[in-house]
This record gives sequence, structure tokens and C-alpha cells, in this order.
Amino acid sequence: MVGGGPAGLTFARVLHRHGHSVAVLERDPSPGARPAGGTLDLHEGLGQLALEKAGLMAEFQALARPEGQAMRILATDGTVLRDWQPAPDDRANPEIDRGQLRDLLLGPLEVQWGRGVTEVVPGTGDGVLVKCADGSQETFDLVVGADGAWSRVRPAVSPATPHYTGVTYVETSIDDIDTRHPDLARLIGDGSVAVYGVNRSLVAQRNSGGHVKVYAKFRAPSDWHTDLDLTDAEAVRSGLLALFDGWAAPLLDLLRHGDTFVHRPLHVLPVSHTWTHVPGVTLLGDAAHLMPPLGAGANLAMLEGAELAESIASNPVDLDEAVRAFEARMWARAERWAKITTAGLDRLVSADPAEAVALFDQVQPS
Ligand SMILES: Cc1cc2nc3c(=O)[nH]c(=O)nc-3n(C[C@H](O)[C@H](O)[C@H](O)COP(=O)(O)OP(=O)(O)OC[C@H]3O[C@@H](n4cnc5c(N)ncnc54)[C@H](O)[C@@H]3O)c2cc1C
Repeated sequence: MVGGGPAGLTFARVLHRHGHSVAVLERDPSPGARPAGGTLDLHEGLGQLALEKAGLMAEFQALARPEGQAMRILATDGTVLRDWQPAPDDRANPEIDRGQLRDLLLGPLEVQWGRGVTEVVPGTGDGVLVKCADGSQETFDLVVGADGAWSRVRPAVSPATPHYTGVTYVETSIDDIDTRHPDLARLIGDGSVAVYGVNRSLVAQRNSGGHVKVYAKFRAPSDWHTDLDLTDAEAVRSGLLALFDGWAAPLLDLLRHGDTFVHRPLHVLPVSHTWTHVPGVTLLGDAAHLMPPLGAGANLAMLEGAELAESIASNPVDLDEAVRAFEARMWARAERWAKITTAGLDRLVSADPAEAVALFDQVQPS
């Protein structure tokens, strides 16, 4: 297994539950080596189903925030357009911090931290050769590439590479929002607040412990930042404030109070990405089907991890057949979601902001 993200860890954890161990090679030197990223909503039939297969639902429910499903939409002048609250027993898409999810999945697993893979060579006779950045190499019967968008395993099965969508996110964070910025805390509520303008939007999402992630999303050429030093927080802040000029002051405070800024140009793989089956190598999650981040990627990654593990556990003597059966299922589902999320991104960062509200009404009828 290459990669210890949602896909890789769910795969390893479900196999572990079935009594099989798997080597997990992860590039990061330790679990907390870099910020884990924003909160994830785990859907009943996807991420939550994967956790059920891993036997982790009770622990998940103890950590999850069903109230985090709340969603408020504002106009750029601050007028409230929608204010949706989940019912008290609504468990359809509760939120969990990525770090909490990682630790939950890690449990008893032994991950080989600091082992970045550089290349995977199938068909060597002895198995599949895996080369690591530290100069080591090993062969395995099966190599599962769950190493994300810029997968180093993917070239072993497919020449596809991600392309830029035309939409960029710039992410910032605010800590201790309830004590430091109570007005902003009220604006965000228990879940998220989203504001849609022409070809741009601002979204703020509550994580646990009073931490808030803020995303400035906009259409721009990939070289939009050539005159900007992305490591200079004040320069990025000024650039964003100019981009959102004219929006209500409390909305701009979300950017004014952000600490550092992370540049996230959105890339995707082709919607119907598949490959000719290669014995001994497969892909999961973003490595297989990177798509716009509209609440599906981690969910799909986890379910795929769980399903591949179950497929192998139920047919350990014919690994290749177990993988082939899984791939066909993954490709069909991923294609459906890639179409949904691609169309969704077009509507959420659109020349007509009413499109975003209409999409919300479709997904979350009140
Ligand atoms: C801003 C944003 C918000 C999102 N919100 C949501 C959401 O609400 N819900 C949702 O379902 N999805 C969401 N997503 C998508 C989600 O983050 C991804 O789809 C998901 O993380 C994919 O999981 P993965 O395990 O396939 O890959 P990753 O999470 O990318 O994990 C890959 C792992 O592999 C490791 N790795 C990489 N290269 C190597 C290498 N060469 N050797 C060894 N290890 C390597 C990495 O360090 C990492 O640990 C969001 C994405 C973004 C950008």
C-alpha cells in the first residue's frame, strides 16, 4: 500500500479486521508532520459505510459533529438567503476533522512513515518492484497506489495526469473563533457559511475546537499569482481583499483575520479515467479519479479502500481476480461522481451566483 490517506488507511484497516496485514508506505515523516486540512462530511452510503466495514462506527459517532451539517448562504451584501439546520437526529453527513479521522483509522496499524515511493515497476518476474526516495527497493505481490493527486504509482498503469480546472482555492484558518471573533462565530454558526459572487465565492467551515477554515474560491488562469509572493501572507491577503472588493465588511473579516494562506489550484483527472488492468498494481481514491472537491473525494476513497480489502479477503487465492472485480465497480461509481462534481463546480463558481443557490436547493430541499 502506497499512501496513508483516507483510501490507504481504510484499506489497511479493513484488511486488518479480516486478519491480514499490509505494508503501508507513507511519505510524511509522522502522522502530524503537516496540517491535516479541513473538516470532512462522511456520507451514510459512502464514508460511513466504509467505517462500518472497518468496525469503527461507534468511535466515529463519538467524534462526529452532526450539527456541523448546518449551512447558511449569504448574499455578498450579507443578506441571509438560506439558513438550513439539520434535524437533531440527522446523521446523513456528519463532519469529522481529518486529523481525528486519520487517528481513528490508524488505530493498531503500523505505518512505515517517511517512505516516499518514487517509482513502481510491474512485471519484474519476482513481483512488483517499488523504489523509494531513501534508495531502498522491495517487491510485492500487489501494490495499491493510494498516494493522491500526484500519484507516483499511477504511471505504472496509466499515462493520465491531472489538469487545471480553471478554479483556484486559497485556504486560510482562524483559531479560537468563539473567543477571539464572536461576531464571526455567530455568522458561521455550527456548520458552514457560503457566499457566492460572480466567478468567486467565500466559504467558512467550522472544525472542532473553535477552529475555522476559510476558502476563497475563484476562476483564474493558472498563472494568476505570477506577480504575487504566495509565501507573503500580507500580500496574499491584500490580493484577496481586492478580488472580493465591495463585499460586506463582516465577510471580508474572514480574510482579514486569517493567519497563513495555502494556495490550492484545483486539478482533476479526466472524468472517465480507467486503464487496462495491470496484474499486481491498482489505484484507489484521488490517485485513480481526482475530481473537484465537492464532498465526495474522501468518501469515495474510503469506500474503495474498504471494498478492495473485502474483495481480497473474500478471494485471497486469486488476487488478480479480486482486484479486477473491484476496479470495474470503482470505475463505474467514480465516473458518476466525477460528472456530478464537475457540473457542481461549474455552478458553485459561476458567472451567475444564482446557480449556486439553485444547486443548494436541489441538494438540500428545505
Ligand atoms: C479544499 C478541499 C476540501 C475537500 N473537502 C472534502 C470533503 O468535504 N469531503 C470529501 O469527501 N472530500 C473532500 N475533499 C477531497 C479529499 O480531500 C480527497 O479526495 C481525499 O483526501 C483523497 O484521499 P486519498 O487517500 O485518495 O488521497 P490523499 O488524501 O491525498 O492521501 C494520499 C497520501 O499519500 C501520501 N503520499 C503521496 N505521495 C506519496 C508517495 N510518493 N509515496 C508515499 N506516500 C505518498 C500522502 O502524504 C498522503 O498521506 C476535499 C479536498 C480539498 C482540496
